[in-house]
Amino acid sequence: MKFYLISLGCPKNLTDSEDFCARLAAKGHKMVFTPQGADIIIINTCGFLSSALKEARENIKTALELKQNGIVKKVAVTGCMVERLKDEVKKEFPALDLVFSVAQQQRIEEIINGRAQLITPIQNDLHIPRYKMTLTLPHTAYLKAADGCNNRCAYCAIPAIRGPYRSKPEEEVVAEARLMTQNGVKELSLIAQDTTSYGQDLYGKPRLERLLKKLVKIKDLQRIRIMYAYPHRVSRELADIMAAEEKIFPYLDIPLQHISDNILKAMNRRCGAGVIKKVLDMLKKTVPNIALRTNFITGFPGETQKDFNELKKFVKDYQFDNIGIFEYHRELGTPAYDMPGQIPAAVKKQRARELAQAQSRVVDKLNKALVGQTIEVISDTPSRGRTYKDAPDIDGALIFSRPVRAGRIFKAKIIKAKGYRRTAEV
Ligand code: SF4
Repeated sequence: MKFYLISLGCPKNLTDSEDFCARLAAKGHKMVFTPQGADIIIINTCGFLSSALKEARENIKTALELKQNGIVKKVAVTGCMVERLKDEVKKEFPALDLVFSVAQQQRIEEIINGRAQLITPIQNDLHIPRYKMTLTLPHTAYLKAADGCNNRCAYCAIPAIRGPYRSKPEEEVVAEARLMTQNGVKELSLIAQDTTSYGQDLYGKPRLERLLKKLVKIKDLQRIRIMYAYPHRVSRELADIMAAEEKIFPYLDIPLQHISDNILKAMNRRCGAGVIKKVLDMLKKTVPNIALRTNFITGFPGETQKDFNELKKFVKDYQFDNIGIFEYHRELGTPAYDMPGQIPAAVKKQRARELAQAQSRVVDKLNKALVGQTIEVISDTPSRGRTYKDAPDIDGALIFSRPVRAGRIFKAKIIKAKGYRRTAEV
């Protein structure tokens, strides 16, 4: 059977797509790269935000039109939208041939042959892929160490969608990393909903540091990038390992969401401004040239102008290399949905704009300091790439002064920098 994949949402969802596509390929099914000529379109949906549900619906409608026009025979839907809406998906789109849960992805070959139950609850143990396929550029990939989340941030639907925190056994994560590096992957981005809780469920306490010590021993693995760290779980030991291990990029993605204690409390975040600043100061002191990425939400219910000014000042003072800015969105089923003090959309937007302006001034300053420096870069194509400060798909870009071989990690001198665009002399 020929299958065409549409994978929506975050890197964690992408690794799920990689797993079930590898499973199908291992059973002799062929992945095609245009819907034309496919027997089935498989849509792995995101469901974390209403905007993601909207995007999923649009993709389902388009796929069903292709079916109606006889271009494809079947359309199947899985992923977080199914976890969030369950049977509602089939009711809303009766023309769908298959609607199946994330837990059922590991039985995909039975599913598409109609031999397995479709909607089942989230599983306790995390399914371990026996086959591996990466849908990213050949030299960079995501390594999912765990799924689900035990934090209960008031704005977030993920715990209800992905279930409790479930770590993959250490030896499985290491085996998967080894398999990917044997297939040419050089840069591994370590991901989970909360990477710093890795092992809590399996080993009774977080064991990210120990996992990293094992991963850096993989001979062919060149670089590891740590994503989705939860601030108060960032230990001094983690910073020491990052400083000591050349194979770990001096880069940390550490979503903070806000800095005002009022708002952090209302968001049910597990630590306040004091702890956050202490952790950031410790990281900057311990890991030379560390690049920090984070996310902020503007317009969370109850956010006063004073709270927002505090956030703006924090961005100016702490100078993050990259930040993601999100306007708060009321998500049905989350505690914040019914919170008093909902902020008007125009104010949320204005605050997001102001934060972006503050950040672009920071980026200009950091860039000026970067020009003339020789730093580690990654070539994603012969003409474009990233610096070690840039994660794939979400951070800045790098232009090479002349073509290079793609898929390499090497040192280059930054000769120009404007906004998120930098040029490296090769
Ligand atoms: S840490 Fe918070 S924001 Fe992140 S997935 Fe868990 S509940 Fe959601």
